[in-house]
Amino acid sequence: MGDNLFSGLGQLGLGDLEGVGVFEEEKKEEKKEEVSKPKEVTEEEILYDKTYKCPLCDNKFTSKMIRTGKNKLIGSDTDLRPRYTIADPIKYDCIVCGNCGYAALNRYFAKATSKQLDMIKQNISSKFKGVDETAPVYSYDEAFVRYQLALVNAVVKKAHASEKGYICLKTAWILRGKAEQLPEDMEGLEEAKKELQKQELQFIKNAYHGFKEAMQTEPFPICGMDEYTFIYLVAELARKCKDYGISLKLISDIITSKTVSPKIKDRARELKDLIKEEVSKK
Ligand SMILES: [Zn+2]
Repeated sequence: MGDNLFSGLGQLGLGDLEGVGVFEEEKKEEKKEEVSKPKEVTEEEILYDKTYKCPLCDNKFTSKMIRTGKNKLIGSDTDLRPRYTIADPIKYDCIVCGNCGYAALNRYFAKATSKQLDMIKQNISSKFKGVDETAPVYSYDEAFVRYQLALVNAVVKKAHASEKGYICLKTAWILRGKAEQLPEDMEGLEEAKKELQKQELQFIKNAYHGFKEAMQTEPFPICGMDEYTFIYLVAELARKCKDYGISLKLISDIITSKTVSPKIKDRARELKDLIKEEVSKK
């Protein structure tokens, strides 16, 4: 049969296939597909498993993290919630030990004192039933549960006001992310959005409460933010809670400061305009 694997097929009536290559066509076709359809990067593809050791129970476990690089920052909301091209990193910011229920925002995960760990052990671990970690990506609902667990951990361990406030703020962002992701053709879309906005405002109010207290009792940087970035954020939370007097006072502190960055100053001016608009509508 020489070099041709198929010579002789003619006997079976398949003479037109005698010249076919075993692998050539396949390769060509694959290539064609790549050219015609550039593959979109999915959320799952930019995740990886990061290993943690639980400070409470010593359990080694993995938590999903977003690889930096492909997920590009495209902007932020007025309350500094970041927006990215592919995946929302806020969903992945709570680290949860599935064994004992110890949970915290990434930045606080390793920082609990032995007294705090004791309180969590007594009040949470003794009753904790575990979380489902099998999904390849976290949905907003799954992320919400993780934030609730982090918040109850923070309450039990008597965390600083800033830590509790930060968890509340990010939980509000989770609810906003969920509302944005609801399918446009969903039944009862408007009511569902309204309900999520109502829940979001509850978390915003708690974040505002915690941050206002932190501003008076904790040294800067707070939650990794420098003084004026943090004051701007509190001013915006005050606006969302319709506490316009406080908001305008903080905005004026920012605008008249000589050391604040131009970016924050601009945002503060935008906030002032927003308040003017809202007050005039009343
Ligand atoms: Zn643990």
